Amino acid sequence: MDFEFHYTAEQEEFRKEVRAFVEENAYKEPLDVVDPMRIPPEMWNKGREIQRKLGAKGWYAPGYAKEYGGGGLDREHRAVLAEEFAKIRLERRWPVASAGSTEVSAIHASGLMSFGTEDQKKRLLPHLLSGEWYGFQAFTEPDAGTDEASMKSTAVRKGDVYVINGTKVFIGHSPPPIHPDYLYWPAVTDPTAPRHENISAFFVPGDLPGITYTPLDLIAAEGSKWEVTCEDVQCPADRLIGEENKGWLVTQATLAAEHGGGGVVAPRLSSLTLRFIDYCKNTKRNGQPISRDPKVQDLLVLLYIEDQVSRLWGLRNFAMASGQVPRVRYTGTQTALHNKRHSPEMGKAFMDILGPHCLIDDPELKILIGEVEHQVRLADVTHIGGTPETQQIMMSRGLGLGRGAAGG
Ligand SMILES: Cc1cc2nc3c(=O)[nH]c(=O)nc-3n(C[C@H](O)[C@H](O)[C@H](O)COP(=O)(O)OP(=O)(O)OC[C@H]3O[C@@H](n4cnc5c(N)ncnc54)[C@H](O)[C@@H]3O)c2cc1C
Repeated sequence: MDFEFHYTAEQEEFRKEVRAFVEENAYKEPLDVVDPMRIPPEMWNKGREIQRKLGAKGWYAPGYAKEYGGGGLDREHRAVLAEEFAKIRLERRWPVASAGSTEVSAIHASGLMSFGTEDQKKRLLPHLLSGEWYGFQAFTEPDAGTDEASMKSTAVRKGDVYVINGTKVFIGHSPPPIHPDYLYWPAVTDPTAPRHENISAFFVPGDLPGITYTPLDLIAAEGSKWEVTCEDVQCPADRLIGEENKGWLVTQATLAAEHGGGGVVAPRLSSLTLRFIDYCKNTKRNGQPISRDPKVQDLLVLLYIEDQVSRLWGLRNFAMASGQVPRVRYTGTQTALHNKRHSPEMGKAFMDILGPHCLIDDPELKILIGEVEHQVRLADVTHIGGTPETQQIMMSRGLGLGRGAAGG
């Protein structure tokens, strides 16, 4: 089956319009090395400004309905947008990490879209889909990671507000001192109810009194991470997402999106692996191209195959999410598990091929402008969005092998 997109003349005209927007808003020169964990606040702010401009055109949430502030575009137009933004990233003229994200995070919009009441969707979604609001997904707690249902955060209804207490860790992306517009924060609202039936989800305004933000200094992440504490925070009751005590369903819709169920459209030549292969062909060690070594060739072939599997599954998931081909229940989980198993292998292969060079911080020697070093540091950080073991359990459920029948 061909998962590639084929475009009409009208869609190619649309591409020109997108390219003109990109040229107007991109940096004029390629960026120097930027550590994605330490994005300068100016770059963050430029990224946010571009997101709002995209929102004004309906391109920040191209696949969402216009009535909620989306673009109402079909999958081919969405694919054109994705391809053009991937190209400009390759040219290194676009803000990096979350600041450079060109589409609203499904992690934030999907729970609200799936389980929000019509009133909640009309009130809250336009702020997200227009790029006006930026939020932290605040699920993980010091004693509740994989076992999210063990969360200790509480929200107690008092008149027009819920009083929220608790601490979340490993969350967010923005560089200090920039705080989010809201915290997507699940909390226990009925301590007497069974697990999974006792939680509600909130979009807590990020600047309320009682919220404390503490930056975390991790070895590796995508963007900066934070610990956030709420102490008697008075969250307006109209920031509840979905029904009270049905928050587990809201967070599960979010996690399904986070695991990759929406898919990814990336141009054929954009991946780090393909650029790394080129680097090995064109760079000499001891008078010979690095790629001349048969052991290097073996490793590059394996990386290539895994890279192609990832790309094709990304396209397939996009095709499934946009209704082009029938959906399989475990599709997102399968992709997440594959990527999480592949990531450490990739880091090890980079180390085996390049040795200490791949960790060098000297701009003259820094390989592929820091992407290799970042990948090596990030290779074993497979916790994001759930560990490989969690994905494996979910995949087996998706196949009807384990408890329940849910997939990601
Ligand atoms: C870089 C980074 C970014 C993150 N970003 C966010 C974010 O933006 N928002 C957010 O809410 N969270 C975020 N997280 C948190 C992430 O979701 C958690 O780290 C993850 O869910 C695992 O939880 P934990 O760290 O508490 O590990 P634990 O749950 O304590 O797991 C420890 C180990 O035990 C294994 N394990 C646990 N239970 C089982 C089981 N039943 N069967 C088999 N093995 C099991 C796990 O696989 C893991 O290897 C981030 C984490 C990292 C590292």
